[in-house]
Amino acid sequence: MSKNQEDMSSEAPAKLENKQDDKLMEKIVSFAKRRGFVFPSSEIYGGFGAVYDYGPYGVELAKNIKESWWKAMVQENENIVGLDASIFMSPKVWEASGHVSGFSDPLAECKQCHSRIRVDHLLEDAGIFADEKMTEEEINKLLNENKDKLKCPKCGTKGKFTEAKSFNLLVQSNLGNFTGDWDKEPTYLRGETCQGIYVNFKNVLDSTRVKIPFGIAQIGKAFRNEITARQFIFRKREFEQMEMQMFTHPDEDMKIYEEWRERRWQYYLDLGIKEENLQWHKHENLVFYAKAAWDIEYKFPFGFKELEGIHARGDYDLTQHSKFSGKKLEYRDPQTNEVYTPHVVETSVGTDRTFLAVLTEAFREEDLGEGKSRIVLKLPKKLAPIKVAVFPLMKNKPELVKKAKEIFDKLKMEMMCEFDDNGNVGKRYRRQDEIGTPYCVTVDFDTLETNEVTVRNRDTMEQEKVKVEELEKWLKKKFS
Ligand code: ATP
Repeated sequence: MSKNQEDMSSEAPAKLENKQDDKLMEKIVSFAKRRGFVFPSSEIYGGFGAVYDYGPYGVELAKNIKESWWKAMVQENENIVGLDASIFMSPKVWEASGHVSGFSDPLAECKQCHSRIRVDHLLEDAGIFADEKMTEEEINKLLNENKDKLKCPKCGTKGKFTEAKSFNLLVQSNLGNFTGDWDKEPTYLRGETCQGIYVNFKNVLDSTRVKIPFGIAQIGKAFRNEITARQFIFRKREFEQMEMQMFTHPDEDMKIYEEWRERRWQYYLDLGIKEENLQWHKHENLVFYAKAAWDIEYKFPFGFKELEGIHARGDYDLTQHSKFSGKKLEYRDPQTNEVYTPHVVETSVGTDRTFLAVLTEAFREEDLGEGKSRIVLKLPKKLAPIKVAVFPLMKNKPELVKKAKEIFDKLKMEMMCEFDDNGNVGKRYRRQDEIGTPYCVTVDFDTLETNEVTVRNRDTMEQEKVKVEELEKWLKKKFS
C-alpha cells in the first residue's frame, strides 16, 4: 500500500498549539464521550452529579494506568505487598480515623442563585490562601474580609454568601441496619482506601515475611459527598484511589519520605507527562500529627491542581486504631528487639485524576496541511487501550479479509487488538489515531503474494513492511 492511500502528506505534521484553556476542557469532555472513554452516569435519566462511567476504551486506559501503578509500587519493590480491603468497614474505623467528627469541607450558599460553594476553593480562586484544615471560624473570617473580591462561580454575583458551615463528606449507608434508624447507627462507604491498610497492618505483618520498612499498596473505590460537582472526572463522588502506606522506624520516616517524593515525581515523567506540566505544592497548614505534606500538581486544563498527595503521617493512624480497637499495633524489631509503633509515609493518587492528566497530556489536534487535520491521542504505548488494529484493505475481497482475520486472531491472544474493515483505510487510521492505537496493520494484495503487511505508526504516520511470520515478534519488541 502506498502512502497516499492514507490520503495525507508524508511530512511530519505541524502541530496546533495545545492551549490549556476552557475550550480544551470542553473538547476533552466531548471527545471522551464521543469515543467511548467517559460517559456521564445514568445519562438517559439526565445524569447523576459528579458520577461517571468508563466506556469501552476508558476502561482499558484506566486498567493500564492501574497496572502501571501496581508494577511501579508492588512488582518492582520486594518490600511492598498488595491488599484489597472491603469498601464497607466497621463504623468504628471512621470514628478512630477522625472522619466522623472532622472529615469536612467548608460549605456556603450563594444568596442569589442558591448554589452550594466550597469556600476554600472560592477563596483560592481569588488568590487568597485557604486550606481545608482551617476551622469554621478561620474560614468565615477570611470570607467576610474578602467578600468584595469573591464572586459566585455559577451566577457571578459578588459578595453574597451565607456563613460557611462544615459539611461532612462521608457517604452513609444502611448496610446491616434493620431498624431503619440510619442516623443513629450509620455505616459508611469508605471515604479513603488507606484505612483498610491500617486496620490490616497486623494481619499482613503476621502472615507474610515483611520487615520494616515495608509498604502495603491498594487500589480501590472511595466515596465522598463532594460539595461541588464540576471539573469532570477530577472531582467525583465515587472515585478510585491508588494508595501505598509505608511503615517505617520513627527515626527513618523523613528519609523514606524524601525518597518517595523523588520516586513519585519520576513515575509521572515515566508515564509520559512533561515536567513543565508538574509542580510541587507544600502544605503549610499541617494537621497536628503530620510531619510533612506535599502534593504533586498537574496542569489540568483548569490550571495546576492536586494529582497526588505524599504525606508523612507520624504514628497517628496506628495509634488511633490501637486506642479504639484495644489491639496493639506495634512492631518488634527481630534484630534489636526494640518495640515501637511504626510511622507512616503515604503516597495517594486518584486513578481518575491520573486518567484526566494522561488524557490531557496525550490529546492533540494536528494540522496536516491542505485543509486536513487529525485528532490523535499520543499516549505512551503501555497505556494505549488498543495496541494494534488490523485491517483488510477492502472488505469485499474475501481473500484479504480471511488473511487479516488470521493475523488478528493470532495477535489478539497476546495484546488488545481491534479488527476494522469499515470505510477507507484513511478513515480507519483516523479512528485509531483518536483512541491512541500505536500501530495499524493493513493486509493488501501484496500481502497475498509476499506475505508482508504494512504497519503504520501512529505518531510519525510512517509505514513499514513487515513479514507476517515476524509481526508478533516485531510488535512485542516495540512494546517492550
Ligand atoms: P482535594 O483537595 O482535591 O479535595 P484531597 O486532598 O481531599 O483532594 P486526598 O484525601 O489527599 O485528596 O486523596 C488522595 C487523592 O485521591 C487525591 O490526590 C486525588 O488524586 C484523589 N481524590 C481525592 N478526592 C477525589 C475526588 N473527589 N475525585 C477524584 N479523585 C479524588
